[in-house]
Amino acid sequence: MSTGLSRRSFIKGSVAAACAVGSVGVTKTLASAHKNGTLATLIDISKCIGCEWCVDACAETNGHKHPNPKKPFPTMYPNRVPVEDWSEKQDVTEQLTPYNWLFIQHATIEIDGEETELTLPRRCMHCVNPPCVKLCPWGAARQLDNGISRIDPDICLGGSKCKKVCPWDIPQRQTGTGLYLDLLPALAGNGVMYKCDRCYDRIADGELPACIEECHEDVQAIGPRDKIIKAAHALAKETNGYIYGEKENGGTNTIYVSPVPFDELQKAIEEGKGKPHLKPVKDQMARGNNLVAAMAIAPIAGIAAAVETAI
Ligand code: SF4
Ligand code: SF4
Ligand code: SF4
Repeated sequence: MSTGLSRRSFIKGSVAAACAVGSVGVTKTLASAHKNGTLATLIDISKCIGCEWCVDACAETNGHKHPNPKKPFPTMYPNRVPVEDWSEKQDVTEQLTPYNWLFIQHATIEIDGEETELTLPRRCMHCVNPPCVKLCPWGAARQLDNGISRIDPDICLGGSKCKKVCPWDIPQRQTGTGLYLDLLPALAGNGVMYKCDRCYDRIADGELPACIEECHEDVQAIGPRDKIIKAAHALAKETNGYIYGEKENGGTNTIYVSPVPFDELQKAIEEGKGKPHLKPVKDQMARGNNLVAAMAIAPIAGIAAAVETAI
């Protein structure tokens, strides 16, 4: 079954690619969505077979953005930020790491009396109002006009504020790389934080994110957020499914549709370091202290952004 937002539609040079689609009957126009509008992805969990092609595609496509740390690492005084070194474990794919921005989560669940294994791709949710961006003290985390949030490795000091305020603990630190080595190797953050940047550079060129392009099961679709939300609801209605990501943390640009309730999925997945949960999440930026912090940080972030643009 098609959700109507086929990955094949998001093609380079698409000027007004309107396509009426599938059984849910969604029509999309991608004319300028990737330039002017907020993009979202729809992930149909029922289609995922757990093959990890998307995981490999992400690593291959974005490998040039992965860390290349210098060793030995400088010693920090006081030793308040722990060393995190994934450089000798670059082949770990069962969780998020600085070298693995997408992993496949597994859940064994009973559906219609049959034990079924569900698999789902997990990475940054690309929140509509991302606390990682709003609360980064250095303006290293930014949100692009199309809603993508990314961490600039040339500005990030690895202090991991983004991870602390992310409801899913998504960003992952690698020690021994980044600006802190030149600025304050013994005092500053201790590395750089890494996460899915939704292949912002490919999208800027009108291409699909690598994980979407390479999925043979068409698990993911990408398009304007309003169309994706409509498609997600249509799919959920048609399949008696459940939605995650539309409201969590005040709304995200990653919308999952599952054949089983997310509280059941949550009980069945393995949680832990680098393995995000599927629990309900309140809007972090609606909390008073976070709002105040964001306002205080805004000028610094603005300066950092302006300096980078000018370089
Ligand atoms: S999303 Fe697609 S490529 Fe990734 S594991 Fe699922 S089926 Fe495979
Ligand atoms: S999921 Fe976490 S890292 Fe991703 S945009 Fe939201 S707050 Fe930022
Ligand atoms: S959108 Fe790009 S960076 Fe993000 S998980 Fe997919 S391939 Fe990796």
